Amino acid sequence: MTTMAAAAFVPAKLSGIATSFTGLRPVRLAAAAPSTSSSGARLAYRPLKVVAVDYPRPDIDSSTNFLEAAALSAYMRDASRPAKPLKVVIAGAGLAGLSTAKYVADAGHIPILLEARDVLGGKVAAWKDKDGDWYETGLHIFFGAYPNMQNLFGELGINDRLQWKEHSMIFAMPDKPGEFSRFDFPEIPAPLNGVWAILKNNEMLTFPEKIRFALGLLPAIVGGQAYVEAQDSLTVREWMLKQGVPERVNDEVFIAMSKALNFIDPDDLSMQCVLIALNRFLQETHGSKMAFLDGAPPERLCQPIVDHFTSLGGEVRLNARLKQIVLNEDNTVKHYLLTDGTTVEGDVYVSSMPVDIVKLIIPEQWKPMPYFKKLDKLVGVPVINVHIWFDRKLKNTYDHLLFSRSPLLSVYADMSTTCKEYYDPDKSMLELVFAPADKWISKGDQEIVDATMEELAKLFPDEIAADQSKAKILKYHVVKTPRSVYKTVPNCEPCRPLQRSPIKRFYMSGDFTKQKYLASMEGAVLSGKFCAQAIVQDYNSGVLTAGTEKEEAVLVSQ
Ligand SMILES: Cc1cc2nc3c(=O)[nH]c(=O)nc-3n(C[C@H](O)[C@H](O)[C@H](O)COP(=O)(O)OP(=O)(O)OC[C@H]3O[C@@H](n4cnc5c(N)ncnc54)[C@H](O)[C@@H]3O)c2cc1C
Repeated sequence: MTTMAAAAFVPAKLSGIATSFTGLRPVRLAAAAPSTSSSGARLAYRPLKVVAVDYPRPDIDSSTNFLEAAALSAYMRDASRPAKPLKVVIAGAGLAGLSTAKYVADAGHIPILLEARDVLGGKVAAWKDKDGDWYETGLHIFFGAYPNMQNLFGELGINDRLQWKEHSMIFAMPDKPGEFSRFDFPEIPAPLNGVWAILKNNEMLTFPEKIRFALGLLPAIVGGQAYVEAQDSLTVREWMLKQGVPERVNDEVFIAMSKALNFIDPDDLSMQCVLIALNRFLQETHGSKMAFLDGAPPERLCQPIVDHFTSLGGEVRLNARLKQIVLNEDNTVKHYLLTDGTTVEGDVYVSSMPVDIVKLIIPEQWKPMPYFKKLDKLVGVPVINVHIWFDRKLKNTYDHLLFSRSPLLSVYADMSTTCKEYYDPDKSMLELVFAPADKWISKGDQEIVDATMEELAKLFPDEIAADQSKAKILKYHVVKTPRSVYKTVPNCEPCRPLQRSPIKRFYMSGDFTKQKYLASMEGAVLSGKFCAQAIVQDYNSGVLTAGTEKEEAVLVSQ
């Protein structure tokens, strides 16, 4: 267990505020001064006692999913060495490209990783401002249910960089400004810990609502994966109607969940997406346990991956933007042409770029192939990540991720408390995911921050006012991603491509490619592993398998 350097704070079990949470009634996370709740009841003064101590890493290494992830890593390490290492040219240094590079290097090949920007990480990229403060593309949470990501941390020897939080989910109560409601998962095996957490929380759903919700979910529990996949044709809202789940479950649970999972509302989101997440959380004892990285992802996570594969002979080139995939006469890749006019040749080529870019860059000759044509359905969803530095340490917050349940915001965290590198005992830095963002993505930063402050006034009624008459903004950064993860509307699943393409020597990785973990960091890492696995299968035996041609024939005939 690691401890925050400047933690003058009390460990969870000793903290008054922590024990007050176990009462499972709505509480103010902490109150600066006596104040009045929406029901008129006077809340007692509670001094801030933020739990700024990490929780131990949960025991995930013996879970089936983790063992599978470790076995896949071992497959690459133990693969028979190629007679001649292949030069694998990969475009895109997000987590998928980094993972591809790592695992092909583990299998004895030489990755050349090309990144368009001057920073590693793609959707986990971050930048330092002139004061030395980091701001990020997104507020990122690492779940216990991320076996390939957890395995990767272990392989890199950086497990201690994850700051595990209490096993809880904490939701704001929109009808009771400043109050929060918790789902606390006790230390008992799944699914009992999840069932217990749900049964014990009575603020968000009544007992009859929980029963009707559980009955609605019954087919998913009985029908397993086949049922889950079949729900891809329905939105969350349509599924609720079909299953007779009460409308309040949507308002209380699904809106927050949909926004957190895919930055959209339940009216748009595929039910399969929600069921995949629920399955992981309910089936794995530590699945919903959350961790924050202890600093900025490019330095704390991406760089160790680069160090690993460069030590094995690989290479990474920043500011190397792929402009065109130049083809041979037989439509296979001749070389990658970069925007600076240089060309990069390899034995094998990989795209680890976001799907919206892939669609722009794939050669005209490839476009009619069903494998590429079906990508049209996958379209990145807009999202905005807002950071606000305040002139004081906010008290109505906690050392955890918080679900805002606000119309404009999704999840947020006080990073000055949750993350070691951003730690500040005197001033809060709130990092907030602003979603759905389609109506906001083209607006100015100031307008977005003003709207965020209106929402924050409801979450911090004692401490924040929209006009800054209470806490003052010292500075802010707004990072817009107009096309982020693909919008998981119904019927996207069949459009997700396998990592092995129908074009010989051309592969793809990326969170949108086929793997069982949605568009997420875990999905990106797993897609990179699958991509490396396909390359190893095709080349490490020394002979190109017939698989690619066969697959092409099947795909073209579809
Ligand atoms: C606001 C936000 C919050 C999120 N929160 C979470 C979370 O809490 N948990 C979670 O698991 N996931 C979260 N995600 C999703 C997660 O970040 C992504 O699923 C994952 O990082 C995607 O990785 P990727 O490698 O597939 O794609 P990307 O990260 O998009 O990487 C693609 C790379 O390709 C590069 N590129 C593009 N064009 C070119 C070109 N022409 N030549 C060369 N390179 C090019 C890009 O610059 C980029 O570096 C969040 C995302 C956002 C935006």
